[in-house]
Amino acid sequence: MPGTAKYRGRIAPSPTGLLHLGHARTFWIAQQRASKGTLLFRNEDLDQQRSRPEFVAAMLEDLRWLGIAWQGPVINQSERHAFYLDAFRKLLAGGFLYPCMCSRKELAQMSQAPHENDDDEPVYPGTCRPRTCRPAPTALSSRAQSRDLWLSSSYTGSNYRFRVPDGEAVTFIDNHLGAQSFICNADFGDFLVWRRDGVPSYQLACVVDDAAMEITEVVRGRDLLKSTARQILLQRALGLPTPEYYHCKLMADEHGHRLAKRHDSLSLSALRAQGLTPAQVVSQFWSKFPQAAVD
Ligand code: GLU
Repeated sequence: MPGTAKYRGRIAPSPTGLLHLGHARTFWIAQQRASKGTLLFRNEDLDQQRSRPEFVAAMLEDLRWLGIAWQGPVINQSERHAFYLDAFRKLLAGGFLYPCMCSRKELAQMSQAPHENDDDEPVYPGTCRPRTCRPAPTALSSRAQSRDLWLSSSYTGSNYRFRVPDGEAVTFIDNHLGAQSFICNADFGDFLVWRRDGVPSYQLACVVDDAAMEITEVVRGRDLLKSTARQILLQRALGLPTPEYYHCKLMADEHGHRLAKRHDSLSLSALRAQGLTPAQVVSQFWSKFPQAAVD
């Protein structure tokens, strides 16, 4: 139950740009939810191309300035590769994954109806999907000389996808938005778990870390609702507990567009530079764009 002494929440920004008002509101809510428990900080810096140390410094400074307080040291995902690899091996040995050689470009071309402004990946068309993923050794690409050799390497040369159970509904009760249901291979498809360059996907790293950090409730933006469905499938496959979820509405600009990193003028740094106080920033969460709680 949120608000009890056992409550453990987390904030988990990605250091790929400056935090804006929308992030700040989500983290503010996370702090409120954790007020009688523990709040942890996870730095989601797995994407080496886009993560930058100056953004890590900026997000820590901005959140401290705003009055967000967390307990314990910052947990850096870039230092936890061994845990993700271990989970990946378990999924592979359990027959939940298959190798996928499709490139991003191919996937974009195959996508029947890409939705503009939807950062959710399109349902995978199944190009590399085998009839079955069991037993694990047959799921390996021919590049692998042997299963052991392959398993000892974090560089595989192909992406790996989680095979979702066709037509099955993944359901959960969101503590803010109520009952949620997403159908496998309709609302979302086989999703990336491990990248060909040896990097775990956001979905895998998030599940491994939420379990390791013993998170009881995940508070984040509602753009990640389908990710929650994917993560529940991963939790089941890995035998990990499913935390509670609270998805916040997203903030939008005056045109109704969801706030994104391109909205530099609404970054916390810019608002601070304009002379706003933390209290004024917090009041803007609720008042600046009253028309714009994006669903
Ligand atoms: N790092 C993600 C983001 O900044 C949030 C992931 C999460 O809270 O699970 O959008």
